[in-house]
Amino acid sequence: MTDQANPPAVKKLFIKTYGCQMNVYDSQRMAEAMGAEGYVLTEDQAQADMVLLNTCHIREKAAEKLYSDLGRLKPLKAERPDLKIGVAGCVAQAEGEEIVRRMPLVDLVVGPQTYHRLPAMVRGEAPAILTDFPSEDKFDHLPQRRATRRAPAAFLTVQEGCDKFCAFCVVPYTRGAEVSRPVDRILREARDLVERGVREITLLGQNVNGWHGAGTDGDWGFGRLIRALARIPGLDRIRYTTSHPNDMSDDLIDAHRDIPQLMPYLHLPVQSGSDRILRAMNRKHTAAEYLRLIDRIRAARPDILLTSDFIVGFPGETDQDHADTLRLVAEVGFGTAFSFKYSPRPGTPAYDRPEVDGAVADQRLQELQALLTKQQKAAQEGMVGRRLGVLFEKPGRQAGQMIGKSDYLHSVFVEAPDAQVGDLVQVRIVESASNSLRGELAA
Ligand code: SF4
Repeated sequence: MTDQANPPAVKKLFIKTYGCQMNVYDSQRMAEAMGAEGYVLTEDQAQADMVLLNTCHIREKAAEKLYSDLGRLKPLKAERPDLKIGVAGCVAQAEGEEIVRRMPLVDLVVGPQTYHRLPAMVRGEAPAILTDFPSEDKFDHLPQRRATRRAPAAFLTVQEGCDKFCAFCVVPYTRGAEVSRPVDRILREARDLVERGVREITLLGQNVNGWHGAGTDGDWGFGRLIRALARIPGLDRIRYTTSHPNDMSDDLIDAHRDIPQLMPYLHLPVQSGSDRILRAMNRKHTAAEYLRLIDRIRAARPDILLTSDFIVGFPGETDQDHADTLRLVAEVGFGTAFSFKYSPRPGTPAYDRPEVDGAVADQRLQELQALLTKQQKAAQEGMVGRRLGVLFEKPGRQAGQMIGKSDYLHSVFVEAPDAQVGDLVQVRIVESASNSLRGELAA
């Protein structure tokens, strides 16, 4: 309980978040946990009493990026030895004590499953390095969600970890086995968010559509969870990411048909269009199975916008495999996609496999990205003339302008002088720019 006579002194916390949306959510939760210790967020690292680097291991050279950021903190720490420096996230999990050995300026190292103990670590009441997978549920030990500012869209983690063991991916090692949060806690957190003005929730998980839970009336799948969330009055939009094709159940596909609050947008990574490479990646499905799945999803929700992830130049990839990927992309037609050249991650099954020649992989990446960019442009231009819902998230730079997200997650700029952040309005799209749309309020 807070001692009202002696409230804790206000201290400033600077958090740098690398990578994925799950890290954004984790950073928010760590900020909330540290808020109870008297820390408020600052955007000025030089003024901070504590700097926390919340790292991601998915992208290339993640550890090197962390060490170079830590190197840049050396002068600040030398000037102010009281400054606390913490490293959180997946690189913290993977590197552990090595971080403090290489960078003694680091005070705390905390993994993704133990960050609820960050306040105790800062107080010196818990070890300075915590990267285990505790049996307790961290979400039970985090403070209730608070609104730090009026934000109509929020993330909500419902699932963590992954049991799929794709040959290129560190997640099963850094985030651990799949764990689904209980139904009642998710619904409670969603209701709390809505009470605080949130109208759109994006459900997060490394393998979010693998979520499953026990309700009072038997087992629940992810589709049923979405149906329950859609019954919360005031929750106007539901999204989720990231999904594995093998966990797209019939019920979830039906939810895309039946639930108007479930936005017509699906990120469904396929990684490659070649069965040989999909097998080598341990993705456990074929290209034809993915295509059949897309047909079923589009039959349920014809206007859905599909996005995906691709890895180019995976060990053993031939020109034919690459051509198979281009063919799959041409057949599906994606609204947007993330594509990367393969880079080996220590500790993963593919780490020691012979790599594709770098120049060849570069060339293939260029070809793939050219096709994906063309599709993205076509998808965006296809929005012109359409009437879409837009949830305003912030004012634009020009007076009277608001910026929001469409049903399809495009950024939309709208002249709306009387509108407020948090308004959900109907907009007629009049123009497609490079990475955004322009719209007018619909009558
Ligand atoms: S399904 Fe996703 S998170 Fe899980 S191992 Fe594969 S790529 Fe990694």
